[in-house]
Amino acid sequence: MNLVLKATQFAALKHRNQRRKDGKTPYIIHPISVAMILAEIGGIDDPEILSAALLHDTIEDTNTSAKELDKEFGSTVRKIVEEVTDNKKLTFSKRKQLQIDKAPFLSKDATLVKIADKISNVSDVIKSPPPEWDQLRCDNYIDWAEAVIKNCQKVNKKLEKHFFKLLTNYREE
Ligand code: ZN
Repeated sequence: MNLVLKATQFAALKHRNQRRKDGKTPYIIHPISVAMILAEIGGIDDPEILSAALLHDTIEDTNTSAKELDKEFGSTVRKIVEEVTDNKKLTFSKRKQLQIDKAPFLSKDATLVKIADKISNVSDVIKSPPPEWDQLRCDNYIDWAEAVIKNCQKVNKKLEKHFFKLLTNYREE
């Protein structure tokens, strides 16, 4: 519990000046929702996995280093976050393709965070798409997220079912 609260505070501070793609939601709502999806839908109660979920975008999107996470949260949490961190030195399209290609080789814990992250992002795109995104861009995003998750190891039936149900509902509308 203490680790999870510490991760919440750490992530809130690191993301404090960022907003989600809709331009108004504070960024921290996203990592909190990823941790909540793991707990509420996936039934995950491991504090290191929940902390990694809260911290999953800190290396990629803030000035946080892997070393800092290791020191504050230990090597298990640091490794999960590193596994789900894109290399921002690569181009956008290369990073997107790498997520698909690397998905089968993620650890079980990183796979859980990856699925919950995609559930959170796909839900946001469906419910409140970024203002500059047209229908095609939303469709493409959702197709890409599906390709990533289809390539992941099967680690949690409830999360997988929830993810694919979101896609079915969206496509039926
Ligand atoms: Zn994320």
